[in-house]
Amino acid sequence: MPTHVIDGLHQIVIPTPFKVGPVNCYVTTTEPITLIDTGTTGAESRAALQAELAALGLQVSDIRRVIITHAHADHYGQAAEIVRASNAAVWTHRHNRVQLEAYETIHAQRNEFYLRIMAEAGVPAEQRQRLTDSRRSSDRHAEAVKIDRVLDEGDVIEFADRAWRVYHTPGHAGGLICLFDPVSRVLLSNDHLLRDISSNPVIEPDPDDGPRPHRLVQYIQHMQRMADLEPVMAWTGHGHPIHDVQRVVRQRLHFHERRAQRIVDLIGAEERSAYQIAEPLFGRLSGTEAFLALSETIGHLDWLEEQGRIEAIQRAEVIYWRRK
Ligand SMILES: [Zn+2]
Repeated sequence: MPTHVIDGLHQIVIPTPFKVGPVNCYVTTTEPITLIDTGTTGAESRAALQAELAALGLQVSDIRRVIITHAHADHYGQAAEIVRASNAAVWTHRHNRVQLEAYETIHAQRNEFYLRIMAEAGVPAEQRQRLTDSRRSSDRHAEAVKIDRVLDEGDVIEFADRAWRVYHTPGHAGGLICLFDPVSRVLLSNDHLLRDISSNPVIEPDPDDGPRPHRLVQYIQHMQRMADLEPVMAWTGHGHPIHDVQRVVRQRLHFHERRAQRIVDLIGAEERSAYQIAEPLFGRLSGTEAFLALSETIGHLDWLEEQGRIEAIQRAEVIYWRRK
């Protein structure tokens, strides 16, 4: 059943095949009918969307706009199908464009980027392709979709009779946006801020071909920026809304500080690769979780390096880390 967010805006919940569980999407009951995030492809997802919309007196063909908060399958997978049924316009941050419209065209380039990251992280050669492929397993649950309008930091979008400001908050994903209504102080935080789990900052190449962005460092900065807005409520992409955003942000910072300290302790007096750090931290690296574990470890190493607590030494293709 849909949950009332504020007048004219409701949360609907759509199951996903992923470990994270169902995804929260948001829909207006005021014109133009606007859907924020979509769930994945698949019959179960489609049926859930139809049922949730029906409970609000709506159907898929009523949707005029689809806003995609970030380019992960649970948030955009079903968009193309919705567009076919409704002719809705699709809006998202410009960094998501290539990934949403033509993922296959950048596949080879991305594969090369991730194989290099694996090599630098000290992942044994025979495991690199498997770990790189595990990252893509979620793509099976998404379909490419054409973008009609690109969004940027500072843009204002009107829906549910309010003017929502776009905040570009990279971290969990490079093109992730949050939407904030300064009047009601409601924040739509999707996966940038979740109540019960920490969002994984996923390693990605720079969209403009610059150096690899330090996703965890960005995530921490932008998490603080959202807390500074002093939202009264953050409605999330998974699980429950957050009543006390400041407290959750403090908890997340504390978690990352403890994790960073644990990494410094693990390095000890040695030199260690990201792989040699991720294994004792997360256990044996296998399956789809392995890429995320490595990604998060690299995020913490970036952060520690920026703090001047560790330094990198490159030996052949592998980067080793030691205390400074
Ligand atoms: Zn998600």
